Amino acid sequence: SAKTEGPGLYRFFAPEMTQRLQSRRALRHDLREALENGEFSLAFQPVVALGERRIVACEALLRWFRPGRGPVSPADFVPVAEETGLIVPLGRWVLRQACVAALDWPDSISVAVNLSPAQFTGPGLVEAVAAALEETGLPASRLELEITESVLLHEDALALETLHALRAMGIGIAMDDFGTGYSSLSYLQRFPFDKIKIDRSFVADLPGRAQSLAILRAIVGLGRSFDMTITAEGVETADQAATVEAEGCRYAQGYLFSRPLSQTDISAFLARAEGVALAGW
Ligand code: C2E
Ligand code: MG
Ligand code: MG
Ligand code: MG
Repeated sequence: SAKTEGPGLYRFFAPEMTQRLQSRRALRHDLREALENGEFSLAFQPVVALGERRIVACEALLRWFRPGRGPVSPADFVPVAEETGLIVPLGRWVLRQACVAALDWPDSISVAVNLSPAQFTGPGLVEAVAAALEETGLPASRLELEITESVLLHEDALALETLHALRAMGIGIAMDDFGTGYSSLSYLQRFPFDKIKIDRSFVADLPGRAQSLAILRAIVGLGRSFDMTITAEGVETADQAATVEAEGCRYAQGYLFSRPLSQTDISAFLARAEGVALAGW
């Protein structure tokens, strides 16, 4: 009966919503502890130069393994870390850890680190990046930062200034998930990115889908006229690799080449791959 199910009010205010709020709150709490308890790690996914068929960089991807519960996707916890501000200390940990990992790789291979919009709203980002480089000894030329267009969403003068300062340090800046936001095009005008990463939603239906091919062509054309190189994300098949290469993408990333690997496994993988043209596509 209604009585045994608890107060009517509770039922009226959608239990589902209450549950979601509660799990968000729990997630926030657990996230904070996770950083202290060392529950985060980084996975690294190779980025390949299609023409030369060799690995040029690896993207650092944050992983959270909750003891007794298993892995949580960054798509679920990064937004919560953003809301709570935890992304700032967590992001610093990622930066430093990514630099440390890269020191173990051949010099020709860079590391790409994702930055959240919230990391741009404070003044300390440039200093944090400089400190990570200095303390680890990784040259700035081996670090690349990936940002999504939401960083520039609010005409934020500080964000623009920060981006220019990072670029002046010799760090490459890539616009991630290109084409998924609503004003990707206007951002190209406002900030000179070095690289555009085409979102994998445009790669997924290649080569068969004419609309995806048209979007790919348009983005490659834009990239050319702005002097930016293009990386295709989410390349899973040899047909997709051939298509994006033929259309002018210089770089690609995806399960075809490698899934994201642990820090230990990526070092071994890169040592084996060094100087060897990649096979398999
Ligand atoms: P992203 O930066 O666009 O990263 C690419 C995502 O695509 C990764 O998901 C990667 O595992 C996945 N991926 C790579 N190749 C393939 C493929 O061939 N097929 C498919 N289906 N997926 C592929 P992941 O690791 O789950 O990360 C999701 C997002 O979380 C990232 O998207 C990024 O926005 C965010 N993220 C990850 N690590 C960090 C971090 O350290 N800081 C911040 N701020 N965000 C991060
Ligand atoms: Mg990325
Ligand atoms: Mg992306
Ligand atoms: Mg993405």
